[in-house]
Amino acid sequence: MKKLIISITSAIVLISIQSEARTLKGASFTRFEIEKINAFTRGFEALDFAEDYHQWGEEVESLKRQFEDLEQMDTSLKRSICRNFQGLKIEEKVTLTTILEATQELPCKVQIQKEVDSYFESREVYASKLFGIEYGRSALEEDFKLPVVDFEVPVNEGPFYVHAGLERGYIAITVDDGPHPTRTQRLLDIFEEFQAKATFFMVGQKAYTYPEIAREVRLAGHSVGSHSLDHSDLRRKSREDAMVNIIKGHTLVNIASQGVLPFFRFPYGSMSREQKQDVSELPMANFFWNIDTLDWKIKDPVELVKYTRKQIEKAGHRGIILFHDVQEQTVRAMPLILRELALSGYTLVLFKAERSERVDSSDFDSKFQR
Ligand SMILES: [Zn+2]
Repeated sequence: MKKLIISITSAIVLISIQSEARTLKGASFTRFEIEKINAFTRGFEALDFAEDYHQWGEEVESLKRQFEDLEQMDTSLKRSICRNFQGLKIEEKVTLTTILEATQELPCKVQIQKEVDSYFESREVYASKLFGIEYGRSALEEDFKLPVVDFEVPVNEGPFYVHAGLERGYIAITVDDGPHPTRTQRLLDIFEEFQAKATFFMVGQKAYTYPEIAREVRLAGHSVGSHSLDHSDLRRKSREDAMVNIIKGHTLVNIASQGVLPFFRFPYGSMSREQKQDVSELPMANFFWNIDTLDWKIKDPVELVKYTRKQIEKAGHRGIILFHDVQEQTVRAMPLILRELALSGYTLVLFKAERSERVDSSDFDSKFQR
């Protein structure tokens, strides 16, 4: 019975693929091309089923690889791919624009970007009603400020932080996966409005691509740590390969930011026991988190604010909170989140390296060459 349903379904799918191909004027596609057109849409549907950030990241990477082939495609094929994209859910279109930023243009790129922009704008209008804020009014006018305290990290002890033992009312904002060519700067502007400070964990290759943004983050008074060379899942690598990846990534973030702190976070928080041990032997702090916002998954900024509030409560109103500056919804939600933190009387925590224990790069080299 199951087999019958599957074969009927695939027959319907096949018919719909064929009829779609036939309806295209002046264009005939090979079977391979039709497969290609539909693979894009299936990729976006797969994002919906991703259970964690890791799986989601892998789907996005595989979609990006598909987009690389776009250059070789002719216009009619691109148009057909666009027609499929029009049927995507708005949340999927948000991801789509994120991927399109770095890849070949599609004829529908501008149109989809517009739809996504107006979606975010409508959610912001809704949010301002919901939270009782005058739409477009900045934090500066309302004079919201978040107190910030420095937290000196004893890096030579190779600490591993989940909530860093922070007390109730103390929150450390951490921002991963950047720098991003536009969103990081927007986030810096928002932080400045609230006089908020955060710890950024940057990906080596991205920092190397956008060194001026990496430097800007540091010069704005935030702390900068590293987040591997290329955001690969280090747990799947050997101890040696993982260590090479960590050191290379850290070096690139240091060159770009001109002042990385000896802070590191494993991509996806994914590490083996041995790798965790290896990092603890470096003069370096290893950061995890105890408050996950799922900001890669929750595309609606209003829902993201609500979810974040709930997670902070669940964590006992204290600890290390995880955001990603590569996500549009994170930038959109941040003013509301900071406003809530300010109104509820939270104090922000900024991680700094213990001043007496300055680390120089030869420490890494000696460990590395063991
Ligand atoms: Zn990450």
